[in-house]
Amino acid sequence: MNQDELFKKLIAHSKEYGYIFPSSEIYDGLSAVYDYGQYGSELKNNIKRYWWEAMVRLNENIVGIDAAIFMHPRTWEASGHVGAFNDPLIDNKDSKKRYRADVLLEEHIAKLEEKVEKEVEKGRRKFGETFDEAQFRATNPNVQRNVAKADEVRRRMVDALTGNDLEAVRQLILDCEIVCPISGTRNWTEVRQFNLMFETKIGSVSDESSTIYLRPETAQGIFVNFLNVQKTGRMKIPFGIAQVGKAFRNEIVARQFIFRMREFEQMEMQFFVRPGEEMKWYEYWKAARIKWHRALGMGDENYRYHDHDKLAHYANAACDIEFNFPFGFKELEGIHSRTDFDLGNHQKFSGRKLQYFDPETNESYVPYVVETSVGVDRLVLSVLANSYCEEKVQKDGEEGGERVVLRIPAPIAPVKLAVLPLVKKDGLPEKAREVLSELRCDFNCQYDEKDSIGKRYRRQDAIGTPFCITVDHQSLEDNTVTIRYRDSMEQERVAINAVRGIMDEKVSLRSLLNKL
Ligand code: ATP
Repeated sequence: MNQDELFKKLIAHSKEYGYIFPSSEIYDGLSAVYDYGQYGSELKNNIKRYWWEAMVRLNENIVGIDAAIFMHPRTWEASGHVGAFNDPLIDNKDSKKRYRADVLLEEHIAKLEEKVEKEVEKGRRKFGETFDEAQFRATNPNVQRNVAKADEVRRRMVDALTGNDLEAVRQLILDCEIVCPISGTRNWTEVRQFNLMFETKIGSVSDESSTIYLRPETAQGIFVNFLNVQKTGRMKIPFGIAQVGKAFRNEIVARQFIFRMREFEQMEMQFFVRPGEEMKWYEYWKAARIKWHRALGMGDENYRYHDHDKLAHYANAACDIEFNFPFGFKELEGIHSRTDFDLGNHQKFSGRKLQYFDPETNESYVPYVVETSVGVDRLVLSVLANSYCEEKVQKDGEEGGERVVLRIPAPIAPVKLAVLPLVKKDGLPEKAREVLSELRCDFNCQYDEKDSIGKRYRRQDAIGTPFCITVDHQSLEDNTVTIRYRDSMEQERVAINAVRGIMDEKVSLRSLLNKL
């Protein structure tokens, strides 16, 4: 199965099994907005809990808050979002489709780079063992031409975007002879800046002054509460404030399922440090965050750092943690050293002092900030994509054929265990319900007695339940049950009164948190 097929199947599976639905589907959906179903919301909650406990519980100097989505409009002037939270957009007049101009150019560069790699592959095949790749790259005229072209387009693009020269961006699209993938024409409009913030009105009077925004990031709710938390929590620098919440961006090109949504959820932590110490903490959080991701056990090789080529004006260091999604390595989390830009600007715009008196140095200063910012929805996508698996079943005691299984890490799986009477008679359902009532206060459990045991195992595999507890005739005699393991399909017989302990060890978040 190629990655494209995998991605399509994953989207269909997520819908069929109650993970993710298109928003307001009965009205044909709303572009780039999704609803989480009964299992999706459990998975999302478990991921959020894992993050929250890793941040707030394991770090004595990090506390969590829950700020409002609506904020005073001046917040977004201070943060730079009113003036500069823009994407350059361009329309094709024939297809009436809208594109991000920078994305069109980046895709063009990627195509040139692909041509280079194809040429190198051709060389490798032609010359076999004697192939010297470095020499080939340095001398082959086709490679050289395309590398030079890609470099030139990249240079012009960065210059035009940095200088906010939209006419130059358009000219570059024309010079590269980029066509609309739908109409195939080069009939492009001007390039315009498009602000990504959603606006709405507050109160009963609708005029200019009542315009407010849906927050495009959660971070600002933390900055404006910096002093409230520092004072009431008697926090000493360095310390952090964490928050999980919704954010809204009117993305121009919203594709790739829940990777790029218009309403999404972020988990952000702002770490306030002494000026001059930010690089130490930046490196610390880079390492801590990738460790958190890798503790999920989805393959260390599926995560990598990507340093930003072009830093935002307020940052002095920034990188992404990328995940190997079905459509390639893409940003999962951002780690940014934001200097004193945010607190400094809020101080200017609000007229309130946002400083910290450092008892160790006897100085007051505006703290520097190192931020970690990860999207919950992108994490959900990474977990689902990594878990989805189709396989042949040849196990004794299981029906043969194919099964679709979601190998979700047990501590974040939506349903932890299913209690299943082998048959729906002979007192087995009653016994199974007794077992269930022992377990359901501790774990999210399901009870299922309909259809053959094989079919029931398949249903649990498809939603990613890591354990099935099967109650059979022997259970009535000796108070034992079998635990069936989702991934190996092995079965193990254990005493009923041992089940809770065994399960707790396997599904508790503790097993993840202990790795950090
Ligand atoms: P991208 O370059 O992919 O647009 P970004 O650099 O604008 O992302 P940040 O502003 O750094 O993203 O936001 C932090 C995190 O929030 C991202 O790493 C991502 O996980 C998540 N995120 C951002 N935009 C979206 C979106 N439209 N849909 C889902 N998650 C998002």
